[in-house]
Formats: sequence, structure tokens, C-alpha cells
Amino acid sequence: MKIAVVGAGLTGLKAARELREYARVRVFEPGELGGLAASFGDSFRIEKYYHHCFRYDEYLLREIKELGLGSKLVWKVAKTGFAVDGKIYPLNTPFEILHYPYLSFRDKVRLARFTLKSRKMNYENYDDMGVIEGIRKELGDELLEKFFMPLLRSKFGENSEKVSFAWLLGRVAIRSNRKYSGEEIGYIRHGFHQLVERMAEGIEIVPERAKIRRGAKWEVNGEEFDAVIFTAPLPELGGLGDALGIARIEYQSSVCALVASESTLTEEIYWTNIADKMSFGAVIEHTNFMPLEDYGTHLLYLASYSTPDGRLFNMTTEEISRLFLSDLSKLGMNVEDVKWIEVFKAKYSGPIYEKGYARKITPYKVADGFYIAGMTSKPNYPERSMNGSIRAGYEVANEVKKDLL
Ligand SMILES: Cc1cc2nc3c(=O)[nH]c(=O)nc-3n(C[C@H](O)[C@H](O)[C@H](O)COP(=O)(O)OP(=O)(O)OC[C@H]3O[C@@H](n4cnc5c(N)ncnc54)[C@H](O)[C@@H]3O)c2cc1C
Repeated sequence: MKIAVVGAGLTGLKAARELREYARVRVFEPGELGGLAASFGDSFRIEKYYHHCFRYDEYLLREIKELGLGSKLVWKVAKTGFAVDGKIYPLNTPFEILHYPYLSFRDKVRLARFTLKSRKMNYENYDDMGVIEGIRKELGDELLEKFFMPLLRSKFGENSEKVSFAWLLGRVAIRSNRKYSGEEIGYIRHGFHQLVERMAEGIEIVPERAKIRRGAKWEVNGEEFDAVIFTAPLPELGGLGDALGIARIEYQSSVCALVASESTLTEEIYWTNIADKMSFGAVIEHTNFMPLEDYGTHLLYLASYSTPDGRLFNMTTEEISRLFLSDLSKLGMNVEDVKWIEVFKAKYSGPIYEKGYARKITPYKVADGFYIAGMTSKPNYPERSMNGSIRAGYEVANEVKKDLL
């Protein structure tokens, strides 16, 4: 039995691990192991795109433990903030929220009530309602403009208005592990690259871009397989996607800069959402979460979402660096302290959870011997994540076992 896995991100690696004792599994990957969760650096390794996990990430946490990394997991409350008019306000404790000057007391109460109510709403019923319409109806214009729009822009960039209300309700419902002082998040000390490396141990990687053909059997780069598991972004299927009747899904792109600096932007905030119109939507101060001594330099990410044909995505690295650093200085950071900046771009960094998205979720089995799993699979709705991809890899492997073994 021969199985081809297309893509060595977390989905592909998990599927390959699950199947390798039953079949010869070859994983085609032209880029780096780990896909969007790949890392960068020599003297230390750090994710190209900020990564953390949550207590409810059942499949991810199980994988971490099974691969002997459980003792390296660190859990901490990550402080968040909001940058408005060039000033950063911490927004974690009820005290900080009460003193936040840009929302009225009435709106703060409405927001708290909405959080409680949304956990009881069945988000699937709101798939066809736009997020703007839903927020306006439930919470009014003030909260939409002053609170939600900056968050939506930081998450979806120029695609914010397309997103469904179901996505927001689903997000609120799953994010319920808040402590008094903020939300607890996890990280594998010294980086998630350790997980990727352990997942890839003993897996046969073919460093080639997969070209798939349907003959008497499925062929990948001219070699026949009994089954193909495709885990790359759907546009990589080309015409085959339409031929197999797979719903088209629009993706967003990421532009993320990793900045090493001698100073920090804030003392202790991990995640700052930017309400002001800036070239990035969030600042993530990694070394306000993990110990500085692990890296020997302060590290922070500047994160922005775009589209493959968007303006930001198509700027050069130098242009993006200049723009990002200029905006960073407007937030009060001393950019003279910046030692280096690296810009990373991902063309397909996640699906846009548009209105009607739930109907487009990709099934695992799409034809005899042909399976798809990854960011557009069910476990990655309403939020794509490492957990969702590991779960999708596990579940697609089970489908293959059921059909072929
Ligand atoms: C900015 C950013 C921040 C994130 N932060 C978090 C976080 O904090 N927590 C969290 O849980 N998740 C986070 N994620 C999401 C997480 O990284 C992804 O959901 C997950 O890694 C996706 O894994 P995947 O294997 O499904 O897809 P991918 O990682 O996209 O893997 C697909 C692989 O297919 C390969 N490929 C493409 N075309 C071909 C081809 N033709 N042939 C062969 N291979 C091909 C690609 O090179 C890639 O390696 C973040 C993502 C981004 C972009």
C-alpha cells in the first residue's frame, strides 16, 4: 500500500505519522517542514509567525505530550492592550476595562452581557449574516466602530467586512478560559519547532512540489499511489479542485515582521491590538511572554493580514520594513534600538470565514483514493489553529484506514 501526503505542515505530518505503520507513506513538501508553523533563526529558533496554544487544544496538547515535550509547556496569563491615538491601554482586569476611556460604561455592560449571551447562541444559525450587521444589531454602532472594527481589521485586514457573524460567535464561545487578570495561553519553551521536528522523525519527505494526475490510479509527480491526502492550500489543486467539485474558498495572506530590539514597546503586554489606522493590526511582544534570556534580545512581531493581490502583500521586504518601523515609532517605540527586522509573507495563511462559509467546509474524502485535510476542514472552523490541523490530520488518516486497510 502506497500513500502520498501533499504538504508537510502539521496536518500532513500528523496524517503521515498515523498511517506509516500500515503503508509506505511519502510526504511531498517543496518548502519548510511545519508549513505556517515553521521557524526561523540559528542561535535560537522562533516561529516565523507568532504561535501560542490554549488549554482546550486537546489534539495539539496530546501530541505535545506523546512526543515527550509536555514538561516544556509553559502556561501564563498573557496581557493584552489596545492602542488608541498613539497610546496603549492595558485591557485585562475588570479595573482596567472600567477605566478604559474610549467606551462608555453602558457599552462596557453591553459588551459583558453579549459575551455571556453569545456562549448560548447557536453560531451555526448565523452563518449567512455578516459580522458587521450582527454586531450592529446586538451591540450598536459605538461598540462596532470603537471596539470590534479594530479587532476585525487586525484579524482579517481588508477582508473584515466579508466575515460572517457565526465566526465571531464561535470565537467568543470557544475562548472561555479567561482568568481574572486575562487569558491564559501556552507555549513550548524554546519553540514549536521542537514539535515539528519530532512529528517529522522517521517520515519520508520528498522535497518536491506535488503535481497530481488522475490516471488508472492517482499519480503524484509521475508515481502511482493507492491514496493521496492533499493538505496544501486548495488553490494548489488548480483545475483538479473544480473537477472534483470542491467549493472554492477565499484565503487571506499574512505579512508578519519579526523585530529584534534592545528595548520593548510595553513593559508587560503580550498582545496589543491597534485601533489606529496603521500598516499592522497587532504587536505581539514574544519576550513579554517567554524569558528574555532564551533569546538574548527582545523579540516582537508586527502582524498584518492582506490578500494575495493586496497592496501590502505585494510590497518589497524593504518597503514593508520601512513602513512597519515608521508606524512602530508612532506607538512610542524607540526604533533606534531595533537590531534587525525580518519580514515573512504567507500567501495562503488562512481561509476568510465569509458569509455561508460553513456550507463550503471541505469534506475529507472527495473521490475514491483522494482525500483533503487542512485549514479548510471542519476542525479548523471557526478558527484555524495548530490544534485544528493536527485533528484534521488524525481524522483524515482514520478515513483512509477505514476505506483502504
Ligand atoms: C500569522 C499566523 C499566526 C498564527 N498563530 C497561531 C497561533 O497562535 N496558534 C495556533 O494554534 N495557530 C496559529 N496559526 C495557524 C497555524 O499555523 C495553522 O493553522 C497550521 O499550522 C496549518 O497547518 P496545515 O498543515 O493545515 O497547513 P500549512 O501549514 O499551510 O501546510 C501546508 C503545506 O503544504 C505545502 N505545499 C503547498 N503547496 C504544495 C504543493 N503543491 N506540493 C506539496 N506541498 C505543498 C506548504 O509548503 C505547506 O508546508 C497562525 C498562522 C499564521 C499565518
